Amino acid sequence: MKHRAGFVAILGRPNAGKSTLLNALLGTKLAIVAPRPQTTRTAIQGVLKLPGAQIVFVDTPGIHESSTLLNKRMMDQVRASADADVVLFLVDATARPSDEDAGAVDLVKKTGAPAIAVFNKIDKLREKAKLLALIERYKEMHDFAAYVPISALKGDGVDLLRKEILARIPEGPALYPKDHLTDQPERFLAAEIIREKVLHLTRQEVPHAVAVMIENWEDTPGLVRIAATIYVERPGQKAILIGAGGALLKKIGTLARREIETLVGKKVYLQTFVKVRPNWRQDPEFLAATDWRGMAGT
Ligand code: GDP
Ligand code: MG
Repeated sequence: MKHRAGFVAILGRPNAGKSTLLNALLGTKLAIVAPRPQTTRTAIQGVLKLPGAQIVFVDTPGIHESSTLLNKRMMDQVRASADADVVLFLVDATARPSDEDAGAVDLVKKTGAPAIAVFNKIDKLREKAKLLALIERYKEMHDFAAYVPISALKGDGVDLLRKEILARIPEGPALYPKDHLTDQPERFLAAEIIREKVLHLTRQEVPHAVAVMIENWEDTPGLVRIAATIYVERPGQKAILIGAGGALLKKIGTLARREIETLVGKKVYLQTFVKVRPNWRQDPEFLAATDWRGMAGT
């Protein structure tokens, strides 16, 4: 059997059970939680490694029904799911049907990806007939690839769902280097987070000239001390990155620190340095050290 690899997005209303489902799908196999290389808004929530397959779950903002930002959020969600190979549309089977359900299904249609309708919280459902009626309702709204009742909380139906997902993941090599899933995922991810902040906050030629190296990682019970170097190719880029009075670098550091704190679940003391290293992109040793290939998604 050929190796399979692909992206899966979980869509659904707040409280439908997306986070619970993600944990159930990943089980103890959670490899990394990381931003996705080369995109700015989509975050990786976890990578499921199966024999012969790698399934990457990508985060999408929730569907919020009552917000002036609704439209924007919805478009964000669609955009975030646009390159997913499979979309899971999660429905809280215990929630009362509402007019907004069709709107949510429209989002699924817009992604253009094969979508699996997942009916969650069946452990709380007394009458089976209700579930069947609900499935019928969604069948009328969209031609889903499959309809799977589950309890993300109890684990019922999750194995079946995993199989339904896997069957729709295209053939392809692993998307993430294996060693980074097992070795030092947090260091790699911290570097990715810093790089992502640079991409967000700079323009033009700077982003492509950036690589991040974690120089020091000191894990103590209450605090992680991290020293990171941001490499650029030219002095002009260094000046841009540091910014007037160091303001930009400070901002990058603050934003990255907050996110790394969430990642490691501890306070983080983050020091960032900027160094010029001409032509680092042509330096094989340097590329291997920063795993620039993996970061660039090539
Ligand atoms: P999210 O907002 O879509 O990420 O939803 P969460 O995963 O945070 O779940 C929302 C609430 O629903 C939490 O209180 C969960 O414990 C609960 N929940 C999720 N899945 C199930 C399930 O299968 N059965 C039951 N009874 N509760 C669930
Ligand atoms: Mg959640």
